[in-house]
Amino acid sequence: MSPQRWAATREYLDEVIGREPADFAEVRRRARAAGLPAIDVGPAVGRALRLLASICRPRLIVEVGTLAGYSTLWLASALEPEGRIITIERDVRHAEFARESFAAAGLGEIVDLRIGDGHEVVRDLVASEPELIDVVFVDADKAGYPDYWAQLHGSVRVGGLAIFDNALGTGDTWIDHLDNPGIQATDELNRTVAQHDQFEAALFPIREGLLVARRIARS
Ligand code: SAH
Ligand code: MG
Repeated sequence: MSPQRWAATREYLDEVIGREPADFAEVRRRARAAGLPAIDVGPAVGRALRLLASICRPRLIVEVGTLAGYSTLWLASALEPEGRIITIERDVRHAEFARESFAAAGLGEIVDLRIGDGHEVVRDLVASEPELIDVVFVDADKAGYPDYWAQLHGSVRVGGLAIFDNALGTGDTWIDHLDNPGIQATDELNRTVAQHDQFEAALFPIREGLLVARRIARS
């Protein structure tokens, strides 16, 4: 796809399918005003996340990479009653901002925000969390993608989903830039997941690419 075609596709998606609730849009607006980076999933991917997650009727969602809480809001809106979402953020400023987003949305009890390095928090979570996970969404350090997969995929229930954002790159650094460590790790993840016999995977080229893997077998 030419760069022009790609940009036009993104604009079309945002215009036609990217309707977002006013309070979600407000979180993005406040985040921009506060100087947080504009690297949230945006409305088209947010909508895809909610659609995919809601098909799983999730009771437990785990997210790595909270930023302002925008993708968390979309995912939380897919939860069953009694459901909860654990979201992990390393940057304290982002986490504090997100905490306000969750309070404003009335999600204080539903969102369990954990501050720390995703790899360490995930290690503790997998060791201590008794419930299997319905949906995993990873949108954090790209070089760490293979480790997030290695740590988390065994805790996804059969029928559940593991979703990774930026499966085709970030910004101008696209998936064929294999000299970039983040891209190398993303490519390794895509290939590992595509070949895994307990998962069925697809990669959707919306925005910066969404890798979606559904667990189809326990072993
Ligand atoms: N999912 C969010 C955007 C996340 S941006 C949304 O769509 O709204 C990526 C976030 O991951 C940033 O806030 C960054 O601080 C965080 N991050 C980067 N490396 C991390 C790590 N090792 N552990 C936890 N969070 C990390
Ligand atoms: Mg992303």
